[in-house]
Amino acid sequence: MSTPSLPFVTTHDVVNQVPPLADYNAYACDTALREAVAREGAGYADDWLRARGAELGSAEMQALAEQANRFVPTLKLFDATGRRRDIVEFHPAYHALMGYLQRHGAAAGPWAAPAPGAHVRRAAFYLLYAQVEDGTLCPTTMTYASVPALVRDATLAAEWLPRIYTCEYDPRFIPASAKKGVTLGMGMTEKQGGSDVRANTTRAEPAGGRDYRIVGHKWFFSAPMCDAFLILAQAPGGLSCFLLPRFTPDGEVNAIRIQRLKDKLGDRSNASSEVEFWDAHAQLVGEEGRGIATILEMGTYCRLDCALGTAGLIRGAATQALHHAQHRMAFGKRLIEQPLMRNVLADLALESEAATALAMRLARAFDAQGDEEQSLLRRILTPAAKYWICKRGPAVAAEAMEVIGGNGFVEEGPLARVYRQMPLNSIWEGAGNVMCLDVLRALARDARCIEGLAAELSPARSGNAHLEAYIAQLQRDLREPVQREDQARALTQRIALAVQGALLVRFSPPYVADAFCATRLAHGNFAGGAFGHLPSGTDCAAIIGRAWPNPTGG
Ligand SMILES: Cc1cc2nc3c(=O)[nH]c(=O)nc-3n(C[C@H](O)[C@H](O)[C@H](O)COP(=O)(O)OP(=O)(O)OC[C@H]3O[C@@H](n4cnc5c(N)ncnc54)[C@H](O)[C@@H]3O)c2cc1C
Repeated sequence: MSTPSLPFVTTHDVVNQVPPLADYNAYACDTALREAVAREGAGYADDWLRARGAELGSAEMQALAEQANRFVPTLKLFDATGRRRDIVEFHPAYHALMGYLQRHGAAAGPWAAPAPGAHVRRAAFYLLYAQVEDGTLCPTTMTYASVPALVRDATLAAEWLPRIYTCEYDPRFIPASAKKGVTLGMGMTEKQGGSDVRANTTRAEPAGGRDYRIVGHKWFFSAPMCDAFLILAQAPGGLSCFLLPRFTPDGEVNAIRIQRLKDKLGDRSNASSEVEFWDAHAQLVGEEGRGIATILEMGTYCRLDCALGTAGLIRGAATQALHHAQHRMAFGKRLIEQPLMRNVLADLALESEAATALAMRLARAFDAQGDEEQSLLRRILTPAAKYWICKRGPAVAAEAMEVIGGNGFVEEGPLARVYRQMPLNSIWEGAGNVMCLDVLRALARDARCIEGLAAELSPARSGNAHLEAYIAQLQRDLREPVQREDQARALTQRIALAVQGALLVRFSPPYVADAFCATRLAHGNFAGGAFGHLPSGTDCAAIIGRAWPNPTGG
């Protein structure tokens, strides 16, 4: 009898691999966000956000995000006959995502339909969307943020705001006057410097009335397919802000020459370019010489979005880790049941809840235009929140990736893109140090910012001993007559942590607030070490259950 031969091909069952996190409601399962929406004044939008949460948790939306990042934008400098085109082509998925964002008011909603809580409602949507795709948020944010700068100029506002307010996405490369909706970008950073924009060398020559001719360059010019850009250039009266449209008023393509697209670490769905202006047409916004003040109006709203976007990325990373740990077995138990892993997961959940609470609180300060206390708080909290939330982002992404293990490091998985995206919000629109110096500037210019902060912190003072001591020390530090520049990071971090701690003590369950204060506030100067240091006795199960109430039913 002959021995049976081994089959040429062997097969094996795939076991213990985690199903993708898809088709869940990203809003319904986010208790911290839902509570923040209600307390910050947009509770009326709960049903609307629930509907968006279902869309944003869908496999379909994830597929669009994946495609928009895999099939990256390409620069088409010339047409077949050698004529300059200077256009960027995108995958249809990018356009689908841009259409989705516009349709739901991520760029213009609160301006087109002002209402109490409108910025908070948009902020929650933005935070949810950031868990899915982030490159498309760049032109969305810049369009949103351009409005407060444009309203300073009645003529430009009358022409451009109605186009923004349509909340429609129209990707056609045609003059803005013929489009159903427009997007706007910004150009400040030049080769010789982005933080110090006073060093800008781009020139603006008066061409009659409020028209100017622009000659120069921008080294980072994201979303060059926007319909217009707010840029800085040196006019006879000093550094000034201009609106630079893609087409001139007579319908010709404006002389904005795209040199190349950046080959970036992340943010790959978004085309960031280098451009030159070859005698391009532009119009003055505001007054000559007041360019920084004018464009800072835009910058402030971009900074809010950096905090919101990274809070979303943090939540996205934490949920991926929680979902994975819920399914993956090791040493006979699910990861989520392993005591040490529970500590890490609960710590990630705390970071996410704190980031959400702070970013959403900041968003309310943007809703309360005209309220002096809120505007003082906004002045100091915007750079502080951007700084601290964005600083925590990369650490969260790295830890969440490690929870997923080897699969976390693979591009097919969900974490690699999140990890590569994380540092961006910390860099653009004012890198970390610049944010901290801005906090010092705010304190030096208007000491009433301290009162705005005190008013925010005082209701929570008696809730937790660590928080109480922390706030008392912060108040003493803030009243130092001169703040030392070399200590600006430490001070900014303390402001952000104090507000996070106060929000959690006031509004989150004690098991969340106590664990946060014990690990972030207790020792005065939080060094931000590895996650998973929650003290014994912490109710990790409750923290995890709040962060991830089993939304996929797995
Ligand atoms: C993907 C991407 C897209 C971007 N899109 C745009 C865009 O559309 N439009 C645009 O205008 N810009 C854009 N930027 C540019 C971005 O805003 C700048 O890179 C940023 O402002 C920093 O400027 P810089 O790169 O010239 O660095 P620098 O200004 O050289 O700063 C380098 C470092 O020095 C620090 N620093 C600066 N001054 C001080 C100081 N006084 N004390 C201590 N530290 C200091 C900064 O915090 C930073 O960490 C984009 C950047 C990226 C990465």
